[in-house]
Amino acid sequence: MHFQFRKAASAEGPIKFRESLDVSEMIKGRKDITGISPLTADLQAFSAGEGMVDVKGALTAELNVACSRCLTPVNRKIDIDFEERFVHGQEPEEEEDIDDDVNYVSDESVDLVPYLEESLMLNLPLAVVCKDDCKGLCPVCGVNRNEQDCSCDTAVVDPRLAALKDFFK
Ligand SMILES: [Zn+2]
Ligand SMILES: [Zn+2]
Repeated sequence: MHFQFRKAASAEGPIKFRESLDVSEMIKGRKDITGISPLTADLQAFSAGEGMVDVKGALTAELNVACSRCLTPVNRKIDIDFEERFVHGQEPEEEEDIDDDVNYVSDESVDLVPYLEESLMLNLPLAVVCKDDCKGLCPVCGVNRNEQDCSCDTAVVDPRLAALKDFFK
């Protein structure tokens, strides 16, 4: 997924493009995410003046993820506002001259994939719940407490609390 820097910087109007990207490798580190659709990028590249190009648009994907409390599979859509500014040329040598809000690119053809992947990683939900009041699994017997009640005593499950209890005896 590339855009041509000079073409975008000199074009009168925005250059639109829409592509899909396989991001299944990106979720390998997340055991709770069991699947992800291709990431769809609906973007426009346009001149931002002074040799800068802005790329803006929406990234969407669908996730299959386990509820962080009861492990029920949940389907979750993610919608990301993507916005990055690119400048053609070397990053300035003096640290104080570096503009953190822009990306310095040296090639005429700019590969957007690393930027899209980074944006996705920053926007993956951390702990998904199937519903706000999900009661989770019983830590003692493991039943899904949304579906079934159990009579376990869960008051002594936390070992740190158990140690405190002994301490006060
Ligand atoms: Zn749940
Ligand atoms: Zn139980």
